[in-house]
Amino acid sequence: MYLFKRVRDLQAFLQPFYDKNRPIGFIPTMGALHDGHLSLVRTSSKVANNVCTIASIFVNPTQFNESSDLEKYPRTPAEDLIKLAKAGCQAVLMPSVEEVYPSGLNTKVEIDFSKLGSVMEGAHRPGHFEGVAEVVKRLLEIVQPTHLYMGQKDYQQVLIVRKLVETFKMPISVEMCPIIREKDGLAMSSRNIRLTPDYRAKAPIIYKTLQDAKNWIQAVSIDELSQKALSQLEAEGLRPEYFQLANAQTLELIADQNDAKQIVACVAAWAGDVRLIDNMII
Ligand code: AMP
Repeated sequence: MYLFKRVRDLQAFLQPFYDKNRPIGFIPTMGALHDGHLSLVRTSSKVANNVCTIASIFVNPTQFNESSDLEKYPRTPAEDLIKLAKAGCQAVLMPSVEEVYPSGLNTKVEIDFSKLGSVMEGAHRPGHFEGVAEVVKRLLEIVQPTHLYMGQKDYQQVLIVRKLVETFKMPISVEMCPIIREKDGLAMSSRNIRLTPDYRAKAPIIYKTLQDAKNWIQAVSIDELSQKALSQLEAEGLRPEYFQLANAQTLELIADQNDAKQIVACVAAWAGDVRLIDNMII
């Protein structure tokens, strides 16, 4: 596996693949890698037909709306590289902030994401998706992959990136891969290592509540369902930020079961000082 710190070196490595129109799979990450990330790498390298699988590790400052969150973000680069090599990654880009955002280059993305960007994570983390769109567009321009692998764990993010790719007519197919969970159902996340043992034991209530929502939706109104979900999370000692049901395609919030063919339940909750998100198609 090759490790690149400079964009131009990675592009020189990729040139023969571009020349021959070879499929390239790309997995952007912020590091502190776990099996969720590695499942994306394995899908690209072992399941799909990609001739080359590239990952990036870059903790993107522009998508953090709180500087303390950025500072506390876990960083485990040495372990990450070993895991990526084992999962079948051919090359990793670990750029500096200056490489991604060179002075003088305007990398800002101005797209109206409408509901996709204004509900849930968009409402609770102002500026977050602007930062995500900025870094993903820049990374896609650098890597020029044919396939991009992203986790359903960040459902709203995948829809935002699909819209980005569509708007800029990038010839890239965006694949949404399933959420990988711990045995007790907690969605894997780089943030989980910051949970105290007490909150780690409580956090699986998030997955349980999503599963319960799948049953409750037959019997109660959307409003009641959300209330039940929020109460259940609070009763376990978490501080939910939202529990919302939305049209799985447009992310318009729904008021009635019949408002959408496919419904996604999305949740964000604090477990101590760690913010966790999860979702499920219900
Ligand atoms: P991050 O490092 O948090 O930016 O995540 C990088 C990619 O890994 C994103 O596409 C995430 O959605 C994906 N990812 C993170 N956690 C999981 C998980 N538990 N299962 C599947 N994909 C995940």
